[in-house]
Amino acid sequence: MALAIDSEECDGCGACEPLCPNQAISHEENMFRIDFKACSECEGFHDTAQCVLVCPIDCIHSAVPPTATPTVKRAKLYQQVVRSFNRPDTISFN
Ligand code: SF4
Ligand code: SF4
Repeated sequence: MALAIDSEECDGCGACEPLCPNQAISHEENMFRIDFKACSECEGFHDTAQCVLVCPIDCIHSAVPPTATPTVKRAKLYQQVVRSFNRPDTISFN
């Protein structure tokens, strides 16, 4: 399981990045993203996701692939995550 930052909502405040125990959050030109392979949702370190706790605009959500009946928002966010890692082969809506 991993989380993802909605790049359309993120204001680039940077509050989340230093709190990640896995160094899963990085940024380029004020665009913050979470490496879904490195994010453990803080398991093993904290009871709750630290980035979610600190984010002032609540723009960090689950990066789990959408289910058979995905919400538009979740499907869109998942596509952003996949694009950011140049992994178009991983897109699946089955
Ligand atoms: S949930 Fe925890 S491990 Fe995942 S990106 Fe946020 S702070 Fe890092
Ligand atoms: S704390 Fe939220 S708004 Fe700030 S950089 Fe992180 S994801 Fe973006």
